Amino acid sequence: MNSHHRFIYVVPMGDIGDEYLNSMAESIEEQFGLPVKVTVNQGLPSYALDAGRQQYNSNLILKSLIDNAAPDALKILGVTNGDLFNPIFAFVFGEAQFKGKGAVISSFRLRGNPDSESATKCPPLISRLEKEAIHELGHTFGLKHCADPDCVMQFSVGVECADRKFSFFCPACRELMLWHLGTDLFLRA
Ligand SMILES: [Zn+2]
Ligand SMILES: [Zn+2]
Repeated sequence: MNSHHRFIYVVPMGDIGDEYLNSMAESIEEQFGLPVKVTVNQGLPSYALDAGRQQYNSNLILKSLIDNAAPDALKILGVTNGDLFNPIFAFVFGEAQFKGKGAVISSFRLRGNPDSESATKCPPLISRLEKEAIHELGHTFGLKHCADPDCVMQFSVGVECADRKFSFFCPACRELMLWHLGTDLFLRA
């Protein structure tokens, strides 16, 4: 395996606890079989703040993550507590470059409304963050949404905090992910 471009970077941006970052890093290493580096916290991405909406433009964050990528980064995942939007959606849990290098996720909407009735049924925030991280990184490896309800690549709209049951790939998605991973490493060799 090529020794360059083989780390998945996790870039904290804002108020995300170390225990969350460590747990996410472990889960990513397990699912993708690649080592993870967690960088120093960059603070909230003020360059991407839309003052009128008080939300952060996920496209601008992706651009910055990729512009500033470390030379040995195969993929980069930004993790923020800021509320994300993009030109198409009023808010997003996360966004990724399909078959690209960058992804970003936010804990903001994943926290859900603690006063709502469904809140007690929510899995813990850490497990929601892990699933969102694996899902968005899956897109960077060329995976599309999956119809298997047990697969981390399943997509469901508007379900507050309970959208993804499992943090792992179905057999088909896993095989495709490994194939794309091999292609990625080969192309950069
Ligand atoms: Zn998706
Ligand atoms: Zn799947």
